[in-house]
Amino acid sequence: MTELEAVSEFVNRTCWVARTAIPDLGSQPLYIVWPHDDGMVTPRLLGNRDGLYFRHLDGALRPELERQGQWRGPGVCVVINALDIYRQAAWKPDAERAIVGLTLHELAHWLNVPEPKPIAPEDCSARYEDFVRECERPEEAHPIPAGFWAHHREFTRLAVHVWWRAKNSAGCYLRPELLRFGSSVPGLEKLSEPGEYINALLPELEGSHSVPLRTAVATTAPLEFVELWAAGERRIMSAALQHTIAAARNAGEHG
Ligand SMILES: [Zn+2]
Repeated sequence: MTELEAVSEFVNRTCWVARTAIPDLGSQPLYIVWPHDDGMVTPRLLGNRDGLYFRHLDGALRPELERQGQWRGPGVCVVINALDIYRQAAWKPDAERAIVGLTLHELAHWLNVPEPKPIAPEDCSARYEDFVRECERPEEAHPIPAGFWAHHREFTRLAVHVWWRAKNSAGCYLRPELLRFGSSVPGLEKLSEPGEYINALLPELEGSHSVPLRTAVATTAPLEFVELWAAGERRIMSAALQHTIAAARNAGEHG
């Protein structure tokens, strides 16, 4: 089996896990794209990210999906650095788990916003330009890591649900860290551990087994989880404040 065939097989199994764990996907196509040098998503464009979700990515990448004979209509699309992850894994089953974990992470981003309406074919190139601009936007230095807002409380709640469903509906146990939520997100080490968020949500997880995930999290979050999140948020804010004070003092001393 060639490297590309092995990665395709991992990606196909990932699609199955995602579909089984996330009923919200319904029957719409799920596109898992990985970067390549002459594609619309190049390794340079992906930069140091391992995966990403972008609104209307299915439409943005439609020309390439059509060229490859993969286009089956509007759906959900994520980019996962699958080939690189495969090449770097010393033990290949680890690569498959990492690909599943990252895909579920990106799908939690998709779940975290109202489902986007499909776009018209004539809007595809404008969406692709938006996507490229977003990828190339330099990260601004800020005491609060930019990832904090994208991986906030509701994202964390969704990621826990997705992790739980992968285990209980798809029989796919993953170390929670592979879904990269809570303290597993780079820069957000001061948040609580994924296992703590899972424990805080256990009663909700056990009681919402077959409902769509957007419905499952439309209720008020359990108090234990809200308080756990708030404690992590205070640690992030307090570190940011100390950083800002130290920078101001430093500027004052040298000004
Ligand atoms: Zn993310």
